[in-house]
Amino acid sequence: MRRMNYLGLLSNDDGAPVDLATDSVGRRVMIGLTKIGLALKSRAWQEAGRRKLTPTQAQILALLRVRAAQHGLRLRELAAGMGVMPATASEALRVLVDKGLVRKARSGADARSLSVTLTARGRREADRVAGWPDFLVDAIEALSAVEQAVFLRGLIKMIRSLQERGEVPISRMCVSCRFFRPNVHADQDRPHHCAFVDAAFGDRHLRLECSDHHTAPAESAARNWSVLTTHNISRGVTA
Ligand code: SF4
Repeated sequence: MRRMNYLGLLSNDDGAPVDLATDSVGRRVMIGLTKIGLALKSRAWQEAGRRKLTPTQAQILALLRVRAAQHGLRLRELAAGMGVMPATASEALRVLVDKGLVRKARSGADARSLSVTLTARGRREADRVAGWPDFLVDAIEALSAVEQAVFLRGLIKMIRSLQERGEVPISRMCVSCRFFRPNVHADQDRPHHCAFVDAAFGDRHLRLECSDHHTAPAESAARNWSVLTTHNISRGVTA
């Protein structure tokens, strides 16, 4: 049995390092993802400290920016979106309210519950927070268009699998959206269709987080996934 610590170092049960020359591609990918995760975490702590926020508070601002544009989010939805306990989200929220970055109000849909939205100052702060991972953009842009599309497909596949096992919060991805119509157009570059905006799009435009997402019934999401994944992963990409 092999284990990986939080520094991305892989070792055998007795603590001896794994021989990477003979290790599987899957393990190497895991190490790579762990290193990227560490870089993101470290950047989040640096930036959050600079803005006098904790990473959890910053995460709430980022989530509200994407998901609460029209209706706000309830505490339960916020905690689920972040993959934390409601008590953790509630404590971070209390501080954000004190700072004047978010406000709580009676939910329009259910007057008995409170929903949370950004204030004008909170929105400006959330815009800054959303830019924190931008340091990765140069590295991603060093990949060719085909490599980016394959990488995106791989990420979608991994996130979907982790979601199915309840290991990451549910993302609002095209592949689970009721408006997604995979491979319905003959155009090799834009074979998919978004029924929400009524437009064709290609693999490289598949969304991982969309504010217009509506969850599809499980059966149709599974059918769409099968239609999407039976096609060549590099189709529709201009190298
Ligand atoms: S509404 Fe958003 S998530 Fe749904 S298919 Fe269109 S782009 Fe994708």
